[in-house]
Amino acid sequence: MGTEDLRADVAIVGAGIAGSSIAWWLTRLDPTLSVVLLERDTGFGSSSSQLSASSIRQQFSTPINIQMSQFGLEFLSGARSLLAVEGEEVEIGLTLPGYLFLALPAQAEAMRAQNAIQHAHGARIELLGPEALAARFAWLNTADLALGALGAGVEGWFDGPALHSAILRSARAQGARLVRAEVSAFEFAPTAPGASPDSRRVAALHLADGRRVVCGQAVNAAGPWSRRLAAAAGIELPVHARRRTVFVLSCPTPVPGCPLVVDPAGFWFRPEGRHFIFGTTPNPDTDDLPLEPNLAEFDETAWAALAHRVPAFESVRVERAWAGYYEMNLFDHNALLGLHPGFANLWCATGFSGHGVQQAPAAGRGLAELLLYGGFRTLDLSPLSVGRLAEGRRVLESNVIG
Ligand SMILES: Cc1cc2nc3c(=O)[nH]c(=O)nc-3n(C[C@H](O)[C@H](O)[C@H](O)COP(=O)(O)OP(=O)(O)OC[C@H]3O[C@@H](n4cnc5c(N)ncnc54)[C@H](O)[C@@H]3O)c2cc1C
Repeated sequence: MGTEDLRADVAIVGAGIAGSSIAWWLTRLDPTLSVVLLERDTGFGSSSSQLSASSIRQQFSTPINIQMSQFGLEFLSGARSLLAVEGEEVEIGLTLPGYLFLALPAQAEAMRAQNAIQHAHGARIELLGPEALAARFAWLNTADLALGALGAGVEGWFDGPALHSAILRSARAQGARLVRAEVSAFEFAPTAPGASPDSRRVAALHLADGRRVVCGQAVNAAGPWSRRLAAAAGIELPVHARRRTVFVLSCPTPVPGCPLVVDPAGFWFRPEGRHFIFGTTPNPDTDDLPLEPNLAEFDETAWAALAHRVPAFESVRVERAWAGYYEMNLFDHNALLGLHPGFANLWCATGFSGHGVQQAPAAGRGLAELLLYGGFRTLDLSPLSVGRLAEGRRVLESNVIG
């Protein structure tokens, strides 16, 4: 603990994968910049980035989400050397068996429409009728299905905690400083009389241990806690911490070639090593529940629905479970990126609503471009601007996995 001020060109609150990625891109694009990551728990015990299902897909319905994941895939594919530090390569175990979204007859038309959008944006997602599904996945019950959409070769999963750690490590090797501290308050520069209402300026961040971080720019990358942090600056963010439980299941019968299956009954599963992981959307879905897995979510109903889809899962056993928070943007379930309206130097990257690991490479690059150049240079992320909250402009993404 000390009272000495810290100084940085850019101070990022939260060193989860979003904050780490922003720091990585900033220090890569401008090695002279001083970047500090302020993280209250450097063990990351409750950070979503260490607790996710670590999967990546292109089956979205909005072009911007498709494009962000395409860039995410490119980044993940190159992670081995891109994130190497002092010649030590990184292994993130990327595997691409695809997501398999399943549709009942009433959902088939919507699936076809989404598929057209995906193809228009270069996402190679194959549509499979019930016969093709049965031929490809003999363990799948297709009796009630009209269609499936499979992204083999472009979608899959990886070691998310390893990716997060590698981005953070590489960002530090490029010069970003990681400081263990909790940000408790914002200090604003005095506003000159008659100044524009868009010019409110953060002068420093106050830390719970009494220190200050004097900064040129401040970024809220506090994930599920970003609403609380924003409130300290007088900003209302509709980002809520919603607990999601992931179950690790064992199954004595082989289920070969299993992709990440998203079932119309509202659950998903995929292989994880020699086991499977499974998740579903809780009902009711309450804010800020303690991060203990809710074992009741894998009840008779969930088990029966799973065994209906894959009869081999009749005999699954729950081996263990964990829980993490979705940082759920209740406005429209999509990322909130960019400069807060009314502020000259307070930015945010949050609200990823269940797809933040795969979007972190693109979000980090986009935020870095905004901070360094005042505009996007590669992918235009303006549809996800945080300004859309005030404008009432929703990004209508219909492929949200609750
Ligand atoms: C069960 C589950 C499954 C998921 N599956 C996937 C998936 O398959 N694919 C995918 O792309 N995404 C998935 N996600 C979503 C993904 O995990 C998140 O979107 C992503 O990790 C968000 O990263 P973040 O850096 O914004 O948040 P976090 O990783 O939570 O990091 C935020 C950090 O901010 C710190 N912090 C907060 N407040 C302060 C403060 N005041 N001062 C200092 N530090 C502070 C916290 O300690 C934390 O480390 C899943 C999430 C869960 C919970």
